[in-house]
Amino acid sequence: MSRSPALLGSALSAALLLAACGDQPSPTPSGTAPAPADASAHDAAPPNATPANATPANTTPDSGASASDATASSGNETADAGGGATEVTSFDHGDPGVLPPGTGHGVPDPTIWGPGIRFPIKDGPAFANSQVYGHGGGSGPAGTGQCDAANFSYPWHDNFCETRAQPNGLCIGNLGHQGQDIRASTCHPGVHPVVAVADGTVTHIGSFSLFLTTPDGSRTYRYLHMSHLAVHEGESVSRGQVIGMVDHVYPPHNATTTHLHFEIKAPVTESGHTVITFVPPYASLVDAYGRMLAGTP
Ligand SMILES: [Zn+2]
Repeated sequence: MSRSPALLGSALSAALLLAACGDQPSPTPSGTAPAPADASAHDAAPPNATPANATPANTTPDSGASASDATASSGNETADAGGGATEVTSFDHGDPGVLPPGTGHGVPDPTIWGPGIRFPIKDGPAFANSQVYGHGGGSGPAGTGQCDAANFSYPWHDNFCETRAQPNGLCIGNLGHQGQDIRASTCHPGVHPVVAVADGTVTHIGSFSLFLTTPDGSRTYRYLHMSHLAVHEGESVSRGQVIGMVDHVYPPHNATTTHLHFEIKAPVTESGHTVITFVPPYASLVDAYGRMLAGTP
């Protein structure tokens, strides 16, 4: 199965737009910075043009094609290398692309875009869910705070394509979130270590972001909202090395809940065109977390 030409065109054009506009968070807390990944909950417009029940054939990036294309464009890396024989402990989680009602329409991409990554929060439990639509978030339930137990409980939910204003070529309507929000075991800022998910180099540190690029350049893992950064730009890091703490750093007013926003950027190739774009991290995180629970992170 291959992605439909219409979706492909829109996905690629959105991705190219990303490249053209530049999507890296500003290194300074300037008011002119582009909208950061967690900034837009309040002004996110629902993608009205998109039917809620759009057929998978027209809306789902084909995982097989994506995986093989990523492989083709990034050398010998395989997109499903993270599975294999490694033991994975099951836990209560929704499927890739399945979002809680009222938060948007996901795309069910099971591709493990971050093959074999270490789970980014050092210790469990941890909870993948939406910071914006969760308790204490800008579009969350009224009258509750971010420390509500619901934020720190299973099941996990994908929020890569939740309703946001950020360009996302792999989501319906080319808009969405650009990563996955993850809570640590508690809502306390600055106490839960975050680790490198892979060997690599710290290629960017902004006012609230840190980018880690793999040695072959095929993946960039992006971490947002950390404090206590333990590495510097240009530094080589090892998989599992502590790089900072889960926090709510988000200049100028730290208007986000305490969580880790985690992104993967990877090359996606269709019809000879390769773009580096945001890809869904959820399946990779499920796999990595299952391995961590099994004692083999
Ligand atoms: Zn986020």
